[in-house]
Amino acid sequence: KYQTHIELRKSFYGFFKSKGHEILKSASLTPPENDGSLLFTNAGMNQFKPLILSSKETKRVANIQKCIRAGGKHNDLDDVGKDLHHQTFFEMMGNWSFNDAFSKEEACRYAWEYLVEKLGIDADRLYVSYFGGIEKLGLPEDKECQEIWKKIGVRTDRILPFIAENFWEMGAAGPCGPCTEIHYDRIGHRDASRLVNVDDSVVEVWNIVFMSNVRDSSGKIHRLGRNHIDTGMGFERLLSIVQNKNSNFDTDMFTPLLEKISFLTEKQVKYNGKLNSREDVAFRLVADHVRAATVAICDGVVPDGTGAGFIVRKMMRRSFLQGNSKLGIDRFALSDLIPTVVSTMNEVYPELGQSSDHIQRLFREEEIQFWKTVDKAKMRFDDVASENKSHMISGKKAFHLFETYGLPLSVTIEMARDVGKEVDEKEFEKCQFEAQKLSQKASQFKLPITADDFPSHSDKEKYNFVFDNGKYNFPQIKTK
Ligand code: ATP
Ligand code: MG
Ligand code: MG
Ligand code: MG
Repeated sequence: KYQTHIELRKSFYGFFKSKGHEILKSASLTPPENDGSLLFTNAGMNQFKPLILSSKETKRVANIQKCIRAGGKHNDLDDVGKDLHHQTFFEMMGNWSFNDAFSKEEACRYAWEYLVEKLGIDADRLYVSYFGGIEKLGLPEDKECQEIWKKIGVRTDRILPFIAENFWEMGAAGPCGPCTEIHYDRIGHRDASRLVNVDDSVVEVWNIVFMSNVRDSSGKIHRLGRNHIDTGMGFERLLSIVQNKNSNFDTDMFTPLLEKISFLTEKQVKYNGKLNSREDVAFRLVADHVRAATVAICDGVVPDGTGAGFIVRKMMRRSFLQGNSKLGIDRFALSDLIPTVVSTMNEVYPELGQSSDHIQRLFREEEIQFWKTVDKAKMRFDDVASENKSHMISGKKAFHLFETYGLPLSVTIEMARDVGKEVDEKEFEKCQFEAQKLSQKASQFKLPITADDFPSHSDKEKYNFVFDNGKYNFPQIKTK
């Protein structure tokens, strides 16, 4: 049964509404300024952090949340393009039980029912994993969860214990807990249990977290003293399954954009969806980064030299560079992609349509600035290259070009090759690592965070809720 991305969204809302959930709007991609544990919203549960940590209110809610994973604990920036199911910007479908609104068993049953009964996904292609326990930290194996899946009717040999993958954490500190995950075998008619969390042909779809712990900034894990359920499912991954495609990038969330990128290439290069093709990797990277930068700017991030703005600038520059060098797109053409990104998502996020022109203008300015910088840095590079006779350009110098002129390492390497030299990449990485360590030190996580810790009105708006009479009220969306 074919489903558009709009239809899939509706089916999700409808299902969880029928299970008594309030259907909520997506929160902004930019977390409140005083939540130093995050650069971007990285999971559906972020906006509920105050509720998770401090409220006793019982509640069941569901939404589809905009997420970016390009920094901190969850960072997919360097993997995007290389596989078929990671983006930096993706949407996360989720449903929640706060303070025992429903049980672990109900949470698993809802997920199974939605996938198998409502969407008609072949149960024989599904595998589940549960938390195998870490004795050292006083975290036992989740045998209860294993039993629940047996009761639901999953074959025993498809219920698999994992350790690191099945203990979920929001950031270096903050809410965490054991989890259970549902994985889908894209090939089928085989026993794929050894391929879960290992091979790309078996893709993780849904994570159900039993949120019962919190990690403090010194790294210690405590019990929360209350039980919540926090689930997250990759929207584009699910869409690829119901649309019977092999990749997130072959769904209707991406095809218009990939076609437009193809149109912009000098030789009308086509996207072929191949895993290892140099061009296809670049197609995916450009599509992803342009999309992510667009939604981030729409939510108020300004490309600049620090924090989230730095990541957005980096993504834009990477897309300019890869689009130009790998696909032969004109230096100043990438901003033409913005209207396509907007028209694909406008129905879901009308705010995109409203700031489309603004975003495109910003893209243009960044493009112009970037190529100016590259040309300037190229001149500076010539000085560096001729400074000494050695065939090696030091990592320190390459890092300096990167930090002060924004010249990406890949460009420096290419230019070095042109003059018969090499760059000391190891040293470059060391410099980068040191710089990162410094910037991480600057962001520490404080506990506890409650509604009262968000004094300014604008911060509360970003967290989406109104705190009234001891209750958290989140903006809902109307569904039929
Ligand atoms: P993976 O192991 O594939 O990187 P994850 O375990 O890091 O995923 P979770 O933190 O469990 O992901 O997030 C919940 C769900 O969100 C995942 O099961 C997956 O379906 C989806 N998801 C996570 N990261 C991405 C991403 N970068 N792009 C698209 N979907 C994602
Ligand atoms: Mg991941
Ligand atoms: Mg995983
Ligand atoms: Mg996971």
